[in-house]
Amino acid sequence: MNKTYDTIVCGGSLAGSAAALTLARQGRTVAVFDKAAFPRSKLCGGLLTWKSVQILNALFGETPRSLDEAGILRHVSDRYSIRTFSADLADGKLSYPFHFIDRTALDARLLEHARRAGATVVEEAEVAGCNPDSGEVLLMNGETFRGKYVIGADGAHSVVRASFPEVDQRRMRRLTAATIEVKISARDFPVRVNAPILYIGFLDAGYGWVFPNGENVLLGICGLRDRDTHFAKLFRAYLDALGVAPAALSCQRGHPLPYGSYLHDPAHGRALLAGDAGGFVEPLFGEGIFYAMCTGMYAGRAVADALADGGDASAAYSERLHRMILPELNGSDRLRWCLFRAMRWFGAGVISRFIKLGAGPLGDMVHGKRSYNWLGKKTWDFPTSPV
Ligand SMILES: Cc1cc2nc3c(=O)[nH]c(=O)nc-3n(C[C@H](O)[C@H](O)[C@H](O)COP(=O)(O)OP(=O)(O)OC[C@H]3O[C@@H](n4cnc5c(N)ncnc54)[C@H](O)[C@@H]3O)c2cc1C
Repeated sequence: MNKTYDTIVCGGSLAGSAAALTLARQGRTVAVFDKAAFPRSKLCGGLLTWKSVQILNALFGETPRSLDEAGILRHVSDRYSIRTFSADLADGKLSYPFHFIDRTALDARLLEHARRAGATVVEEAEVAGCNPDSGEVLLMNGETFRGKYVIGADGAHSVVRASFPEVDQRRMRRLTAATIEVKISARDFPVRVNAPILYIGFLDAGYGWVFPNGENVLLGICGLRDRDTHFAKLFRAYLDALGVAPAALSCQRGHPLPYGSYLHDPAHGRALLAGDAGGFVEPLFGEGIFYAMCTGMYAGRAVADALADGGDASAAYSERLHRMILPELNGSDRLRWCLFRAMRWFGAGVISRFIKLGAGPLGDMVHGKRSYNWLGKKTWDFPTSPV
């Protein structure tokens, strides 16, 4: 294997595949290192919004039909419910359905797209460290590689991000949510689940979900926690409230979720961060699939352009993030604190009044047709189809 590449991408999930595919299509040499062997399991609710479906098509050429034919699409629903343990707050219909996918299968398929486009994909290759100034990447097995650029797409515990001296690691930890998710057979869930349900009001800054996923139902909670939050206990109370018998549970797992920790300047030296590594997750609902693919694509484009014309990849990436992504994350962050505080002061009923006031535009905002920045019309800089 070569030891030098135009770009080394650390992490071969959504952000890494998007970055590697973008670069490989520009004829650039790119190596992707991931510590896992694909297909590997990935904890995720698997909910795709409109903008996720659009970017999957624009970048990877995947459509709901192709995902369905590959057995990756598990459920489609244009309805949603928002509840507390004691009351229904909102039940609604959206202008576009949510699509629910199997993340394990999706991730493997997208990485295969990058490989077919010409990226060198190395699985079971764990990155131990990175020098963002020289572009050197050290693997756990002692091998060293060098990239003209490095893209850190190695998730919430990013090793590449850890090499950035300016990143405030304590802030990152404080704004990272804990999550627990389990998959149970739909037969073992007390009621039939045809549409996503969100449960609010039992966590200070967070929520619970019940998502349909083919023959299974995915149940989870996520939230910021302080020293006194006992997350496993909260999850047991959540299962109790849903009426799920402990015997129905298979393995219960957790994974950190960036929840407001996104970086405004995710670059240092020759290295850029994309996806969860840069904290790019929408901080109200925790949507990260779209942001991982989109920031991965932007990082790939910025590097490809810099390699072509000698420009500044960090500046180009930052400009794109500030124009397209950060207005969404900032708007969502503002909204979540307003909603969480309003719930604390006035009770969860305030949410049902809020949703009744603007159900249509709010649904379009979640889907990405309107902006989290005061509900303005959102125009993405990749091809989208009207709905
Ligand atoms: C419980 C849960 C439910 C969620 N549900 C949804 C949802 O329904 N919809 C939605 O839009 N988002 C959801 N998200 C968020 C979404 O899953 C993430 O934002 C998304 O996976 C981020 O993609 P990524 O490519 O940045 O990172 P990841 O998908 O985390 O991938 C990182 C990759 O890097 C690899 N890696 C890590 N460290 C190293 C290393 N040192 N060396 C080499 N490789 C390494 C890993 O093996 C992995 O393949 C959920 C998250 C959680 C935790």
